[in-house]
Amino acid sequence: MTTEAKTSRVSGFHKKTPRERLDFVADFAGLDGDTVAHLADMGNLDPHLADHLIENVIATMSIPVGIATNMRVDGADVLIPMATEESSVVAAVCNAARQCYDSGGFTTSMSDAAMIAQVQLVGVSDPHHARLRILERRDEIKAICDACDPVLVRLGGGFRDVEVRIVDAPGGAMVVTHLIVDTRDAMGANAVNSMAEALAPHAAAWTGGRVYLRILSNYADRRLARARATWTCDAIGGPEVRDGIVSAYHFAAADPYRAATHNKGIMNGISAVVLATGNDTRAVEAGAHAYAARDGRYSSLTRWEVTADGDLAGSIEVPMAVGLIGGATKLHPTARANLKILGATTADRLARIIAAVGLAQNFSALKALATTGIQKGHMALHARNIAMMAGAAGAEVDAVARILVERGTVRVDVAEAELKRLRG
Ligand code: NAD
Repeated sequence: MTTEAKTSRVSGFHKKTPRERLDFVADFAGLDGDTVAHLADMGNLDPHLADHLIENVIATMSIPVGIATNMRVDGADVLIPMATEESSVVAAVCNAARQCYDSGGFTTSMSDAAMIAQVQLVGVSDPHHARLRILERRDEIKAICDACDPVLVRLGGGFRDVEVRIVDAPGGAMVVTHLIVDTRDAMGANAVNSMAEALAPHAAAWTGGRVYLRILSNYADRRLARARATWTCDAIGGPEVRDGIVSAYHFAAADPYRAATHNKGIMNGISAVVLATGNDTRAVEAGAHAYAARDGRYSSLTRWEVTADGDLAGSIEVPMAVGLIGGATKLHPTARANLKILGATTADRLARIIAAVGLAQNFSALKALATTGIQKGHMALHARNIAMMAGAAGAEVDAVARILVERGTVRVDVAEAELKRLRG
């Protein structure tokens, strides 16, 4: 038996093939043959592509893709692929969409589709004067930015505006230049980052300051997706349900502890479509949460009201930096297939559909919370996961899950006992 300590210091790990890395990891972690065989199966993602999407690849991880049905967005029916590991997320969207389908489904819109890149300047002795010196050079700045991405300019995108903020930071005032850039059908991180880097030496020369950061802001508040829908009072089960939903919204609007969970539910829907289409979930999540705190206190991303007719009106407005070009959207074959299912041929349409999914998700969560409670529906779906955790396979899964739901105790110990009983 060796007493030699294992080391994570591996030279040239990145130069190995995925299989060589996996063998190293298996040895390090003491993985058995079945586990290694499982990890070595890369499923429907080409190992070569996986190895180029990220670094040090050893395996891929499959997440279920479910289809949200019943969705009607701006008068057109759409099937929505959602990639998520959480049960009841897809069902929630289907249910919410069914209940507003007859009243027209979702109506959406979009602000400008612009991204923001920031250039940070420190040590500027006259920040207010410097601010104007930058703003005076708008045409020069436009030329510098547009030269970075002629493709984008040819497609009608590129530099739109420059803004300069003086940020009162703990170490003193900073002069922060914002480049506002239309990135068309791309999320646009790379384009705006290049522009910020190209502008930086000029900004330093114009202001006498020193440049540090040159990077996009994920607080994409110039790229807001909006969706609204009306649920008739009858369709949702009467005024008590409606008022419960509105009251649940009031709770989230007033209390950050509740708002975090309220918005997490919204992101269950949003992130699932963002992931399914190969977009950057972290970018969208960062933008959403920053936007939820835009008034200085973290609050709800949605709003719920009662119409003059007594129906329930829901709306959402959320930054949505997603694209059809770039990142994994264009490279990942499942992302491409999902985009085809969605039928979204512009980033604008994709962003608006995603906002509608966020609103639908929120409707179902609030309705469940305001009526039967979240556990009833969730546990009915979660029971199958619990059955599988207990070792159920094939037809046993549904059989055990049914018993758990009937008994009202969706617990793994109960599932194990039921499985044992079932197997005689
Ligand atoms: P990209 O640079 O791969 O592709 C965009 C480019 O494609 C454009 O700049 C343009 O030159 C060209 N293009 C061709 N057809 C186009 C069209 N119809 N519309 C727009 N552009 C078109 O893609 P990207 O969007 O810059 O990359 C997004 C990736 O960057 C994401 O994977 C994200 O994870 C990553 N990223 C994110 C951050 C962040 O969020 N903070 C930072 C860096 C990188």
